[in-house]
Amino acid sequence: MSFDPEVCETDLFEATDFTRGAEYEIGWSRSTGRVKQIFMENEFGHKCDVCDRLWFLRDLKTVTSSMASFLSTHFPEDDTTRFRLCSSCYSTSRRDKVPPMSMTNGYRYPPKPSGLPKLDPISERLVSPRIPYMQIRRLRRDGCHGIVGQVINVPVDVNTMVQSSPRSLDDYNSFNVNLKKSIIVKCSYLSGSVKKSTVKAWLVRYQVKSPMN
Ligand SMILES: [Zn+2]
Repeated sequence: MSFDPEVCETDLFEATDFTRGAEYEIGWSRSTGRVKQIFMENEFGHKCDVCDRLWFLRDLKTVTSSMASFLSTHFPEDDTTRFRLCSSCYSTSRRDKVPPMSMTNGYRYPPKPSGLPKLDPISERLVSPRIPYMQIRRLRRDGCHGIVGQVINVPVDVNTMVQSSPRSLDDYNSFNVNLKKSIIVKCSYLSGSVKKSTVKAWLVRYQVKSPMN
């Protein structure tokens, strides 16, 4: 019996390629479907009906009948059978306890203001009455970061911010803002142009009576 190495290698390659290709296609289609399910069909911005916080769509769970009857005593004006809860509120409500971050405990967001211009990150910083400080640390080598410890809110004197803003500009003009962590630091951690009318509209509504000329 003669042995032809070229024929043998070709047959082996075709057989291996066919097997690997089929498995690869199956694995690829599963991975694609999983990515679509977890990320593309899982939009952010759905609120928990108990704590009013925003979550991804698949983070919310529907309530059971016993949980709905328990929650109806605390939310008498709402149809609790249609409630969708985050995992924290779900586990607490399942034990017939009111979640600590429940809206019934006062953790309710005020209604979204209407008629105000959209804020960019720098404008948000200028009209914010508090600055949140938090520790962000790298968790692994692959670039994941997480918040470690507590979030500390430092109050801001908005009047000081208003007095240091330029006053000789018209409302439709913009001015450049450079925010530094410290005066001795040369570089700015946030910089850009801010439209005066945007900041003025928010300050007039919420912070001071006559913020800018
Ligand atoms: Zn919740």
